[in-house]
Amino acid sequence: MKNNYELENRNWHSISSEEVVNRLETSISEGITEKEAENRLEQFGRNSLPEGKKENSLIKFLKQFNDVLIFVLLGSALITAFLKHFIDTGVIIAVVVINAIIGFFQENKAEKALEGIKNMLSLKAHVVRGGRRIEMDSSDLVIGDIVILNPGDKIPADMRLVKAINLKVEESALTGESTSIEKNVDIIDENSALGDRINMVFSGTSVSAGTGIGVVTATGKDTEIGKINKMMAEVKKITTPLIKQTSKFGETVSISVVVISILIFIFGFIFRNYGSKELLLSVIGLAVAAIPEGLPAILSIILAIGVENMAKRKAIIRNLPSVETLGSVSVICSDKTGTLTKNEMTVKSVVTSDSHYNIEGNGYSPRGRIINNEKEVDIKSEKTLKNTLLCFKTCNDAHLGKDTNDEWSIKGDPTEGALLTLAKKSNIKLDNLDREATIPFDSEYKYMATLVKYNGENIVYIKGAPDRLFDIAEKEENKDGQRDFNRAYWEKQMKDFASSGKRVIGAAYKKVPKDVISIDHSDLNGEIVFLGLAGIIDPPREEAIEAIKECTEAGITVKMITGDHIETAKAIGKQMGITNAEMALEGKEIEAMDDDELKEVAVKYNIFARTSPNHKLRLVEALQRKGLICAMTGDGVNDAPALKRADVGIAMGIKGTEVTKDASEMVLVDDNFRTIVNAVEEGRRVYDNLKKTILFILPTNGAEGFLIMASILFGTLIPLTPVQILWVNMVTSVTVSMALAFEKMEKGAMKRPPRNSKEPLLNGYFIWRIIFVSVLIGGGTLFMNVNLINRGYDLNEVRTITLHTIVITQMFHLYNSRTIRNFAFNRDFFTNKAVFIVSGLLVLLQLSITYIPFMNEIFGTIYMKPSHWAFPILMGIGVFIIIEIEKFIMRRVDKIKENK
Ligand code: ATP
Repeated sequence: MKNNYELENRNWHSISSEEVVNRLETSISEGITEKEAENRLEQFGRNSLPEGKKENSLIKFLKQFNDVLIFVLLGSALITAFLKHFIDTGVIIAVVVINAIIGFFQENKAEKALEGIKNMLSLKAHVVRGGRRIEMDSSDLVIGDIVILNPGDKIPADMRLVKAINLKVEESALTGESTSIEKNVDIIDENSALGDRINMVFSGTSVSAGTGIGVVTATGKDTEIGKINKMMAEVKKITTPLIKQTSKFGETVSISVVVISILIFIFGFIFRNYGSKELLLSVIGLAVAAIPEGLPAILSIILAIGVENMAKRKAIIRNLPSVETLGSVSVICSDKTGTLTKNEMTVKSVVTSDSHYNIEGNGYSPRGRIINNEKEVDIKSEKTLKNTLLCFKTCNDAHLGKDTNDEWSIKGDPTEGALLTLAKKSNIKLDNLDREATIPFDSEYKYMATLVKYNGENIVYIKGAPDRLFDIAEKEENKDGQRDFNRAYWEKQMKDFASSGKRVIGAAYKKVPKDVISIDHSDLNGEIVFLGLAGIIDPPREEAIEAIKECTEAGITVKMITGDHIETAKAIGKQMGITNAEMALEGKEIEAMDDDELKEVAVKYNIFARTSPNHKLRLVEALQRKGLICAMTGDGVNDAPALKRADVGIAMGIKGTEVTKDASEMVLVDDNFRTIVNAVEEGRRVYDNLKKTILFILPTNGAEGFLIMASILFGTLIPLTPVQILWVNMVTSVTVSMALAFEKMEKGAMKRPPRNSKEPLLNGYFIWRIIFVSVLIGGGTLFMNVNLINRGYDLNEVRTITLHTIVITQMFHLYNSRTIRNFAFNRDFFTNKAVFIVSGLLVLLQLSITYIPFMNEIFGTIYMKPSHWAFPILMGIGVFIIIEIEKFIMRRVDKIKENK
């Protein structure tokens, strides 16, 4: 581009499309060259909007201090300073700062993980460059690029349309108007408003129907959406219902702890014989001990790790709370083609009114013969077959060719690719006919039609779902000419193909007058001549069969929703191992039912055939009304409402349109059903680990709180100083608390039914277990303390032993917490290395506080005799065994309940 002058004329809508193409020095068929694209990229910059303002790191760091606990701690620091306990003050402040630093880094790490995942979902555009059609990141688009638009595409830049076929665009992102606007290429008045510029399409809007071609006129911040400076990227908070629930719980605990501490202070002051200074310090200790400060940060890390793992396993989460929802999914509604099957289509049989033909070969290589009576057929002498193949070849948008590895491959729809391959297997070269007009395939209508000129006549070729063609066919072609359409014969042929799991496509044609230059759905009736049927195989994905089996064991129902014929659907359903696959419901039956009827039927049937996207929405609603948590897959633009409605909307990464991805909670990178089940597995694992972490951390605080509260109430020696308590909290939260995030999925996790999504986290059992372990550890330590003092141990010696006892017992308790119900020493004992690494680290930290003199000074600990290590270790082992006995009893109780 020579200068910016041309670009200053932003009235692209008021000049002809040819003029636009000229001024932007591009060409519709060739686009611009790669070299020119590079220059323009340099001149005008990337096609992206400036990112939403990132929060300043300092502010982010300071925000870590905005927390009830920190206020309590800072208050405590002030009081200790006032009491001239400056070491305590120093340690408390150090802990506050260290805590903030840890929180800051954890939050950053979680955000980075999510950022990386967001980048995996970058917007793509289909562009003509240097004469080739390529798919590229839309951020690389430049002015003058030629962009091809299809239904469901997000419009990546502002463009002047040069071609529009029934193109409708939804512009609510820009104008707030949610109905779709029909676009065309006509010149319009210079002064028309944005919403009236129907020959332009704008960045951020989306194609709701039809196709088109546009030339890019503005990119990045120069686009209309860039000008109004609407930020595309919103920063999402790392949270889910469970995390919200726990942080609220944490706040309630903090406030109650402060209140209890004050009451205990008053009690101790009046009824016990402590000095007020000592009492105040102990009460501060109590407050510090009982508040679970690290919990929310640890939970968000677990969640972020889960999201990262899912991305590694090819499931990209777009919406964090879905990680939890995934764990409670009870029904998965899946598309068939490409998700349960491989979407590698091969035509295996063809039938015309003259004969049956078998087709050799597999995949898209055109090697293989067309066989009849065990001999290769000569197409020249099989007029009906030749015409059928010509219809399949002509009424087709796919391209067949060799890829860079010299392998045959297709670009476009695999069904159409298979039909092209079939046509190429013919022993003569079929004519290449120029298409005058086309009605593209649409899963609503289930056919495609093309108008061509052939041998001086105007012919419309139609290919599509046989039942749709049977409804409109009047004649059928055979070797002798034409005769009346014999529906019964064709129905039988179709059923034969379909019941072996083949997808069936019919071919037909209609002659139209020579002056016809365009076609519409309403033209497809009268005088339609049926040609033949093709039976296409699409092998099931082996891994999807496995995954369906796993779902059944995990109490998750798999339902298949397909546009294919009912018999094809049932046959594939059976091959896939879907339960009840012998019965299926058709789209038209769904239409005839009211919502109440559908609710009952939707749970009974697992196969839904000949459906259109609006049936999906009704099915999701019906299943949800039955109380099921529903995951639903989709790819086309019309699937978006059903995905939005589903509890977990799942979009296809390869086949899916941008609009569907936008409406989804999760995107499958490989379109594979197996990936959904992997994500469910990961969802269950994450939820289990969140629960385990809570179950592990809360008793730490509970035990410390209990120990101090009980000692004040009983009037015994206060067993830990505030700095010692801070030490315990610090070392446990930076080491052992993190370990459970890496816990692998438990063996039985996919053998139990889905979690009831309404069940609160802190259910009866959880509360019991937290209190039980708190009292066990706290009470045990107190008992040991009293004994040691009675035996005349020195105060600092007792405190040192107590500190170790709490920490070491927590370490043993970590091994209990690795599984909520199962025996700790199971086959998975060595699967989580993190547990052993953090245990080692913890031991080192404990040794340092005991044997490094300056640490002794700060924390009031003393050099401990080796034999004294027996106290914490024995206590740890004791607690470990008691909790395992509790788990054993609980397993028994579970069994008894199950057998009832
Ligand atoms: P699923 O929902 O399992 O992914 P699908 O979405 O592929 O199935 P549709 O694409 O709606 O189902 O196809 C329904 C029917 O339309 C097919 O059984 C076939 O007969 C016909 N059909 C599919 N693709 C084409 C096409 N490109 N041209 C003409 N007819 C087609």
